[in-house]
Amino acid sequence: MKKKIFGIVGLIFGIIAILTGVYALYLNSLFMAGGYLFFVAIVGVLFTRFFCASCPIKDTCIHILPGYIARIWKERPGPYTPVNLLISGFLFVIIFLPPLPALIRLPVPLLIFLVCIGLAALTSIQFLCPECENRFCPFRR
Ligand code: SF4
Repeated sequence: MKKKIFGIVGLIFGIIAILTGVYALYLNSLFMAGGYLFFVAIVGVLFTRFFCASCPIKDTCIHILPGYIARIWKERPGPYTPVNLLISGFLFVIIFLPPLPALIRLPVPLLIFLVCIGLAALTSIQFLCPECENRFCPFRR
């Protein structure tokens, strides 16, 4: 239960970061903000295909939402291939890149964006990774 709370907290920080990016893009163009939301949805679903689909605890995912999406792929849990890891890492990074040019000019939203990403990472590293039961995850200690 405690792990799930931290999992949800991490997810909320990630969502706040993305919504801050949407806001920064919206100040330039509604079309760009909508496009970024669509991009996040597609990249997020692809991430579950290449990473979460192989996770042995996707049925009880501590972040809730990715586990639900991962179950649509009907993939059996198993070790990640180098291609899986490469694509997952790439997807994870690019999801936060598009709003950066707009955020650079907005100090407060930029700070919120970076702090939320940092807190999401810290929550995972500090409270989730040490006891995570995804034995295939490369971040597992
Ligand atoms: S616990 Fe498994 S299903 Fe949930 S986010 Fe992590 S890898 Fe994906």
